[in-house]
Amino acid sequence: MPYIQSVPLLDLKAQYATIRDEVRAAIDRVAEAQWFIGGPEVEGLEREVADYSQCRFGIGVSSGTDALIVSLMAIGIRPGDEVITTPYSFFATAGCVARVGARPVFVDIDPATFDIDPAGIEAAITDRTRAIIPVHLYGQMADMDPIMEIAGRHGLYVIEDAAQAIGSEYQGRRAGSIGRLGCFSFFPSKNLGGFGDGGMVVSNDPDLAHRVKLLRNHGAEPKYYHKIIGGNFRLDALQAAVLRIKLKYLDGWTAGRQRNADRYRRLSAEAGLISHAIPNTQYPVPKTQDAIVLPHDAGFGRHIYNQFIIRTTRRDAVMARLKEHKIGHEIYYPVPLHLQECFADLGYRAGDLPASESAARETLALPIYPELTEAMQAGVVAAIGEAYA
Ligand SMILES: *Cc1c(COP(=O)(O)O)cnc(C)c1O
Repeated sequence: MPYIQSVPLLDLKAQYATIRDEVRAAIDRVAEAQWFIGGPEVEGLEREVADYSQCRFGIGVSSGTDALIVSLMAIGIRPGDEVITTPYSFFATAGCVARVGARPVFVDIDPATFDIDPAGIEAAITDRTRAIIPVHLYGQMADMDPIMEIAGRHGLYVIEDAAQAIGSEYQGRRAGSIGRLGCFSFFPSKNLGGFGDGGMVVSNDPDLAHRVKLLRNHGAEPKYYHKIIGGNFRLDALQAAVLRIKLKYLDGWTAGRQRNADRYRRLSAEAGLISHAIPNTQYPVPKTQDAIVLPHDAGFGRHIYNQFIIRTTRRDAVMARLKEHKIGHEIYYPVPLHLQECFADLGYRAGDLPASESAARETLALPIYPELTEAMQAGVVAAIGEAYA
């Protein structure tokens, strides 16, 4: 076991050390301007994130969750409506559907990519279905072509939950630009994370973008004249100023995450830990099923590795070894959404969505942040190896 001190799941202090002066100057700019809500920093970030995401419009909002809520409000989702989504995601995806009074309808995932399986969508459509929310989980986009085709044929809106996927691509198209609306989160652990909560809605549809903009600020236009009922879903200038600095570094950080994913693949192969061969390499294929499964790259395009997720049937043993060596890890997500207590009245039972349920039992996130060193990753792989010794 190579000696390593400890490896956190994410090391934001290491990232901050490389941008400290620029970020402090940006925060200072806001302090001097005393313009805290909306204003030039927010408008600047909106333009930059929209450009980065191949979209015409960006509307800064208070969180990724609020991006989903205002998007659902903007397309007019009402009580009694049904929205199709994945059961294997962060809670907000389905929580927001319920919060606007609609019913989340869950379609199981493709077990290889962990994203919603388009093959199951058609059977879930009823005359109450209004929208589909695919989630680009862990930084790899869902299979958007069949999803858009089905949505088009049935007249359904598509809202991309791109909270984990800023800069990810599907056939050269960026996350957020394919559906009618795309939702980003700037929660600190996302690839573009602020110094607190924040989010953005992107779109190529001028009418919907305008509606989101109204809804973000109580539906007012002009000020104190309310056309529709919205809320306070605004983004702070301080967050925008920090995020504008970080956005300049995002492609470099993404490249670091991709390099680290490749390193895990090589190190796991060298250790005989993976269950299938890497094409064109000399690494042997273990004969046993007792091996870890590495993330599957579906070949859609750019994967931004918000998380690096392995599958293991020995998860408890692997976690015990990681803990012993002070290596950060996390289960995303231990309970699929259809089995959450708060959704009991939707009537789902264990066994209904087996691919999501087995993913919840077997997946584990390893450190993938850009500042990881090869020695740290070798330590992570060696610790996993102890559970398979
Ligand atoms: C983080 C996340 C959200 C919510 O974003 P917040 O900014 O934390 O509100 C929604 N969906 C997914 C898939 C996420 O990972």
